[in-house]
Amino acid sequence: TQREEITYFGAGPALLPTPVLQTAAQALVNYNGTGLGLAEHSHRSKIAEDVLNTAKADLATYLDIPDDYEVLFMQGGGSGEFSATVYNMVGIWVEKRKQKILKELGITNGKDISEDVIATELRKAVEEELKIDYLVTGSWSLKASQEAARLLGPEHVNIATDARKINDGKFGKIPEEKSWNLSRNPAMVYYCDNETVDGVEFPGFPEVLKSNGQDEEPIVVADMSSNILSRRIPVKNFSLIFFGAQKNLGCTGVTVVIIKKSLLPPTVATPSPSLMRKLGLPIGPIVLSYETIAKNNSLYNTLSIFDVYIAGQVLKSLLKTFSDKVDGQQAIAEKKANLIYAALDAHSNVYKVVSDKSARSRMNICFRVTKSQDTNESEKQFIAGAEKIGLTGLKGHRSVGGIRASNYNSISLEGAEKLAAFINSFAET
Ligand code: PLP
Repeated sequence: TQREEITYFGAGPALLPTPVLQTAAQALVNYNGTGLGLAEHSHRSKIAEDVLNTAKADLATYLDIPDDYEVLFMQGGGSGEFSATVYNMVGIWVEKRKQKILKELGITNGKDISEDVIATELRKAVEEELKIDYLVTGSWSLKASQEAARLLGPEHVNIATDARKINDGKFGKIPEEKSWNLSRNPAMVYYCDNETVDGVEFPGFPEVLKSNGQDEEPIVVADMSSNILSRRIPVKNFSLIFFGAQKNLGCTGVTVVIIKKSLLPPTVATPSPSLMRKLGLPIGPIVLSYETIAKNNSLYNTLSIFDVYIAGQVLKSLLKTFSDKVDGQQAIAEKKANLIYAALDAHSNVYKVVSDKSARSRMNICFRVTKSQDTNESEKQFIAGAEKIGLTGLKGHRSVGGIRASNYNSISLEGAEKLAAFINSFAET
């Protein structure tokens, strides 16, 4: 259970703190002296329930998640959530429209009207009004929007903004809010807070998505897979936040959803499958149903409690390190990112940062090396030189190339300093 001190900048799965892994290794063999490893204990046991509830509570403490939000542990990764958000939010949209129609018809008990009559009314609303808005600012929001188009039909997907249009066909900037073409009462507005492949991060919560007296509360959904736990988030502004564990929280295998309770029963119920069929809308797998997962405290089916445990250990260690919780981590994350960007900016003849200054990611620092005419050759040399001194995992995503330094929470300040020093010395020699 020993390893060398490492500085691994891979984008995910990402480096985990060694002490957490050492504790987890012990738990994998013999959990708390029970004679069984944690991965062998039943997910229905008291032990599993404690691990789960502790991780939920620690996450809520660390991020100051208000009481009117529920935390769910799910499976299927970030990509599973691309689909889950569509199935669930469309269901909620249909249910809300249904309630509105019943009210207009003066019907107080839904049972007093046949589903066929409701379906006829709703079909019109679906055809004319059902939209999901996507802010496409990088590869992952693009993928999410493509999944929505696959499930629902492109006619229901509104690309409210496509960042490539203002940047020569490439991601790297976030278009001004006033240029976004948002729908009226969409089933959700979806965006990715930090684009892992492209190094683009929203500087803060978009002003235009704040609740400001529209006829309905905006339903804002964000993918925070690659920047969760690294800065304070105004949870109250979101309907739902999701993230895979494998970057800042833990290891691959669990996905976390923070959802506003008002999107769950008793406030809204999922429409019946027969109504969804009548409307020609997709019915999601039961394991992606937020209602089902919430009702069963994330234990509808077998959850990897061992992965939840690792996430819980990471949270415990964050809470121990930072008495001011996520604000403490945020200060360090900013300091590390500033160090690295400063080194790149100081040698702008040798390095070109991919994203615009206004949208630079603190977590995934993407740049090109143009030391010689041959960028590929310069980047190869950069990577080889970095590896020689133990700075690994710097190769950019296969779809875009270049260099990507993933500056997640487990990269220490010393690690970031070492990378900044190498960036300087590579440029200067
Ligand atoms: N969203 C973001 C921001 C990601 O970085 C990733 C993966 O790297 C995903 C979604 C997809 O996650 P998964 O591989 O767990 O499906």
